[in-house]
Amino acid sequence: MQLAKCAECGGSVEHKTITYTQPWGDELYRFELVPAWVCAQCGHVWFSAEVSQAMDEIIRRNPAPKRYQRVPVFSLVEELEKTGA
Ligand SMILES: [Zn+2]
Repeated sequence: MQLAKCAECGGSVEHKTITYTQPWGDELYRFELVPAWVCAQCGHVWFSAEVSQAMDEIIRRNPAPKRYQRVPVFSLVEELEKTGA
């Protein structure tokens, strides 16, 4: 797979290694060092079928992760009410 132009906005697409976070139910699965194509203009991300399947497989098997990261969660509406915006 090779993308020359972004299908969303027509921007140029670069091959990069990224950190990708996949929401899954109430949890987040974070993958580091993921090869991906990223639009330089709108940030849209694509993965090869192989990479996409590998991440799905990890979520399905749910093996012990390399490490855990804490994720702070905010309600934006409540935060806006606090600041009186
Ligand atoms: Zn784009």
